[in-house]
Amino acid sequence: MNDCECCGRADQGIVGVASIPGVAMSIRWCRACLDNGAVPEWVAGMWLEEIGRGGIADWARAQSVFKDGEYRDLFAHYDREEALVVKP
Ligand SMILES: [Zn+2]
Repeated sequence: MNDCECCGRADQGIVGVASIPGVAMSIRWCRACLDNGAVPEWVAGMWLEEIGRGGIADWARAQSVFKDGEYRDLFAHYDREEALVVKP
């Protein structure tokens, strides 16, 4: 297995296994995700759902999310994903 469990890419080279910031779980990381301070998309979603934007700590706020081929600022990620949700 050589896919990064944060971004899902298999061509970035795995640096090693380490914990996810703020989450009691370890995953395989590529260099690009470590250099970009990324967290898996499901972690970003969990933070939004369980904590909410207003309660997210500064260190977590500084993380990014890899989505659609780019690293996004955490709140920019939220903005784009929420725009896709169809509101009744
Ligand atoms: Zn990665």
